[in-house]
Amino acid sequence: MSEFENRDKNRQRATAKRAQHTGKVSQDRVVMETVVCDQCGARFEIGHAMASQDPTLATRQAAWLADQLVWDHIQEGRHRGTQYLPALHEMK
Ligand SMILES: [Zn+2]
Repeated sequence: MSEFENRDKNRQRATAKRAQHTGKVSQDRVVMETVVCDQCGARFEIGHAMASQDPTLATRQAAWLADQLVWDHIQEGRHRGTQYLPALHEMK
């Protein structure tokens, strides 16, 4: 399924956005964790919807994302600006 088809489903999903230097913060998102790529230093902020903050989940997602960033370098050599994060039941 394409990212486009998933758009509505993903609206409430946790996301990791590449940290920009604008200082802008999305109004309906709370930054739960920051993950820094070991290989290139890119910073990603894990954001949860204001209404569904879950620190335990954010910790798991941070670990998942750290792995994902390693894979990005192996497979594509770059990171997407936004990564959709799995829910707890989607992570092993
Ligand atoms: Zn990287």
